[in-house]
Parts: sequence; C-alpha cells; structure tokens
Amino acid sequence: MELYNCSLEELWQRLEQGEVSSLEVTRSVFGRIAAVDDTIAAYLETDEKGALAQAEAADECRRKGEKTTPVTGIPLGLKDLLSTKGLKTTCASRMLADYRPEYDATVVARLREAGAVITGKLNMDEFAMGSSTENSAIKATRNPWDLKRVPGGSSGGSVAAVAAATAIATLGSDTGGSIRQPASFCGVVGMKPTYGRVSRYGLVAFASSLDQIGPVTLTVADAALLLGVIAGHDKRDSTSVDLPVADYYGALKKDIKGLKIGVPKEYFGAGLDPEVEAAVRLGCSQLAASGAQLDDVSLPHTDYAVATYYLLATAEASSNLARYDGVKYGFRADDADGLLDMYRKTRAQGFGDEVKRRIMLGTYALSSGYYDAYYRKAQQVRTLITRDFDKVFADCDVLVSPVCPTPAFAFGEKVDDPLSMYLSDILTIPVNLAGLPAISVPCGFTKAGLPIGLQIIAKPFAEETLLRVAWHYEQLAGWSGHRPTLAGEAV
Ligand code: GLN
Repeated sequence: MELYNCSLEELWQRLEQGEVSSLEVTRSVFGRIAAVDDTIAAYLETDEKGALAQAEAADECRRKGEKTTPVTGIPLGLKDLLSTKGLKTTCASRMLADYRPEYDATVVARLREAGAVITGKLNMDEFAMGSSTENSAIKATRNPWDLKRVPGGSSGGSVAAVAAATAIATLGSDTGGSIRQPASFCGVVGMKPTYGRVSRYGLVAFASSLDQIGPVTLTVADAALLLGVIAGHDKRDSTSVDLPVADYYGALKKDIKGLKIGVPKEYFGAGLDPEVEAAVRLGCSQLAASGAQLDDVSLPHTDYAVATYYLLATAEASSNLARYDGVKYGFRADDADGLLDMYRKTRAQGFGDEVKRRIMLGTYALSSGYYDAYYRKAQQVRTLITRDFDKVFADCDVLVSPVCPTPAFAFGEKVDDPLSMYLSDILTIPVNLAGLPAISVPCGFTKAGLPIGLQIIAKPFAEETLLRVAWHYEQLAGWSGHRPTLAGEAV
C-alpha cells in the first residue's frame, strides 16, 4: 500500500520500528497532493519546503533516540482558520487573503512541539459559515466520492484531504457541525471534543461559545491519537478546562458490555433520508449485539435548536467580526473617501454574501428592543436544550443518531436557499449548544455510492467513552478506511 494511504496509527508504528522514514512518508503525501489536489481542491496553500524540513527533523529525532509522540514525522493538514506563524491564514475570505499571523494557535504549537509535519492549509466556508464549503471566497472543494457533490462544510478541505489521502489526518473546527457533517459526507472520522477540552487560542473566532477544534482522521484510533496531542488546558484560553488528558488511545479496547446507549427519537424524524436511517439503525443493532443496551430516549427541545443556534451564532459572529475594519490588519478598500467610507467599502468588498447575511442577522438580534425577544430568548432555550441532554445522560452513557439527514448534496443545490442549508445542521447543532463531545464514524454507503455517517454523543469530558464506543462500532461495522477511486487511478 502507498504510504499516503496508511492510517496515522500504522505510520506511527512503522516509523517507530524504523521501517519507513518521515521523509518518505512526507514525499509520498506531496506526490499524492501533486496528483489529485487539482481535482479535489482541498488545499489553499501547501508548504512542501517547510514540511520536508520538519520531516528531516523528525527522522533525526528518531535516529538520536529522542522522545517521540504518535505524530512525530506525520504529515498533517490544518483548516485555514488555525493561525500559523508565517503561513497564510485566510479563513477562505478576501478579508484575510494576505494575512500571515505573527504566532501559532496553541493546537498548532502543540503539533509542532510533538514533531508533526505541517503540509498546508485547507479550504473551508468563509469564516466557517456554511455546510458545503461553497462559501469559500477562494475555490470550491469537491467531494472525493462524487466530484459533482459538495464535501460538506465548513471544514470541507480538512475532510476532503483525509478522504483523498492528501494528508494523513487534519484538524477542523466545529461550531454547529462543521467537523462531523463533512466527515459524514466524505466517509472519514470527524470528532468534536467537549467545549473546553481543546484550546481555542489562535483559532479565528466565529461563535466563541460554540467553536471547538477537533481531529479529522481515517479511523477512530487515529482520532484518539491526535486528540491526545492537542487536548488540555491552556492558560491563554480561559475557557479551556484544567482536567487531566486521558490516554484515549489506550482506553479504546476496553469492553462496552452493559453500556447504555440512548437513541433519541427526535433525531429520526421527517426529512431523514431512508438510506441514512437504515444504515444508522443497522449500526444501533450491531452495537446492541456486542453487548451494549439500547434505549429509546427523547430530547424534546430538538426542534428549537436550529433557530436558537442561528440567533446565538450570528450574534457572536457580528461581534467577533467587528474587528475587520480595514484599520488593524487584513484587507482595506483603497477607493474610499474618508474613514466611514473606508469602513463601509472594506466590509462590503472584503466579506462574502453569507458572512454579511450573518453579521446583519446577528446585529439585529442584539440591537436594543430586539435583544430580549431574540438573543435572551435564545439563551434560555439553549439552557432547555442542555437540560434535555442532562436528563437522558442520567441514564445513558452515550447517544447514537445520524449525523446529517441526507448524504452529500450536489453543488448549487442549496446555495440560493440559506434556510434549507441551515436545516442540514439539525442533528449536529444541539451538541454544540450543550457543549458536548461527539463523533461521526463511517456507517455505510448509499446505493449511489455516497458515504453515510453515524453520530455518537457523550457526556461532557467523556471523550474516553465516546472514542471507545466509536472504536468498537468501527470494528463491528468495518466502514472506516475505504478509499474513493479518483479519476485516472487503477481500481
Ligand atoms: N453549518 C453551520 C453554520 O453554517 C456550522 C458551521 C460550523 O460548525 N462552523 O453555521
């Protein structure tokens, strides 16, 4: 098997045994990028020179017998909203088209300290607003399983790269589903950790009370390995929590007999594609057959989650994106007549339509006279949604559901209908509102050959249980690690 096709876990073991070098692995991944990224368009920028230097350093570190980590010498890609010192961080926006941060995000610094090789920066919906990566101001990323379809979003580049084997694993971010939904569309594993598990320092903010960084990988074991490197308290992010980081990888194989799995009935409602439903129901029965106990549960406020999210996330975005004013950094319109005109033109020309739509919605929801009716009300409903989860988690260890009501949709299918795009997040958003950890694991294909994802949700900071159930499911179901056949390749 080509090195670029291997999992992180396998490469880690082969690197440790001295069977391969990081330089070989890195060259293999860059060869793959050269062969297929013109078609997939996952990367906004690659850093081959930097990557080869990091690979040499990793090999040197192993030669000398210095301490290594599971990611030492492994080529990893980053969503383009993670600040990288000296490497462009555009958020796929004209506003930051030439922006090179002065510092690394904490997750990036941790990867570098752990010896990882950074391949480059990956496409996304502008400022992480979207579900298809069509809102990128720079390019459209294709779904490797069907080039006429979207990869999902907003971390479309991060998942397409893992699916197309142009990175061994990547990091994405998830505010309302942006890791899990695209992972389900592209047949890879995508995990959103508990809010506070991973530092957000250096993640360009969209909605700060919801944003969380997480791994996108070929297998659950890879997600456990990568999470182990990026998780943990950071004094630069006061919302990151000072709890010990468990040995996620070491705990994967512990038995799941007797674990209680809740199946929320509201997540199997109208609009759910029958093929998606059948695949997820089969997944539930496979888990039951392995000794877990299935229970029907109810999350009664689920219907309000999308409206709540689109009030809170837009309100936070309107405030977070106020910093792009053409003064401090980023794009500045040069045809302005005075300061106010400069602000106006900079923001009119720098932001795309979806970002403007969200800033306007959010500013409206926060404005005096409407604050109580919209923003405050949404905060109250957020509490009710969180309580729904608290109640079911008094009895259950994890919940299982679909990730998205449908498989990947076609380009253009939803761009002119923002509401239908927003509704595709219905099964992922409640998890962000409640701050819970969740994962999307491949659970089969439709007749048309499109991947389907199964979502597992756990209690706050129960990543160990989440990954353990996901790993067992993956062994039972066997849907992880499949590769699409890209044009020109021998089958
Ligand atoms: N699709 C959702 C949105 O458009 C979620 C985005 C995200 O998680 N970053 O807001």
